Amino acid sequence: MLFLVSNDDGILAKGIETLERAARQLGDVFVVAPDREQSATSHSLTLHHPVRPIELATGRWQVDGTPTDCVMLAVQALMPTKPDFVLSGINHGPNMGEDVLYSGTVAAAMEGLSMGIPSIAVSYAGRLMRVDDSPLDQLVDPLAALLRHLTSLPAFPKFTLLNVNIPPCAAAEIKGVKLTKLGKRVFNDSIAKMKDPWGRPIYWIGGGSVTWEQDEGTDIAAIQDGYISVTPLHLDITHQARLDDAADWWRAP
Ligand SMILES: [Mg+2]
Repeated sequence: MLFLVSNDDGILAKGIETLERAARQLGDVFVVAPDREQSATSHSLTLHHPVRPIELATGRWQVDGTPTDCVMLAVQALMPTKPDFVLSGINHGPNMGEDVLYSGTVAAAMEGLSMGIPSIAVSYAGRLMRVDDSPLDQLVDPLAALLRHLTSLPAFPKFTLLNVNIPPCAAAEIKGVKLTKLGKRVFNDSIAKMKDPWGRPIYWIGGGSVTWEQDEGTDIAAIQDGYISVTPLHLDITHQARLDDAADWWRAP
């Protein structure tokens, strides 16, 4: 089995090293990842200047681009053969609910999916300090076991990516794995108004607090209960239910 591993936290992140180590227990690993943090870049593509891949070691590349650039470049230019799976992560922080719309981690897996490759995004739903990332070291073996299970599902669903979130507890305390739907969250005061060194107003997006609606069956509920959450996602955002009930609301102009 050949895995392409990417992420959005950059090739130096502890999370991608952990995912690589887990994937190597299952097969061959090719890494193509951004040369710096690209979190919240979503599915952006670099169109207005070239991107430069640098081979750090055999089968390990950094790219001065987005996660989507990396996966596209890997599959279409750098890898000797098409991978069997694209793995993205482990993201430093959760990707649940609406996070998946902003996430570069999920977007890298989406890019794999758009090229017809089964893909899995993995996020650690806790806070990681860059100088002490030891919680991830405990995850290598449990994650390898989970990946072995997911990648050997006899009917791994086509045109679907699996979005995995791992609860921020000790690996031995993880209660199991739940199949979930995306939850919903509410941002409070997420834009902070500040002043630059010259006294001019600036705004910093991303602060404040987040509250979650803890509906049963959601990714957030599974994480809060100490389970690994696996949410199937797809690229097609057509609102099928609105098409199905179009007779109730739609009138041609
Ligand atoms: Mg990230």
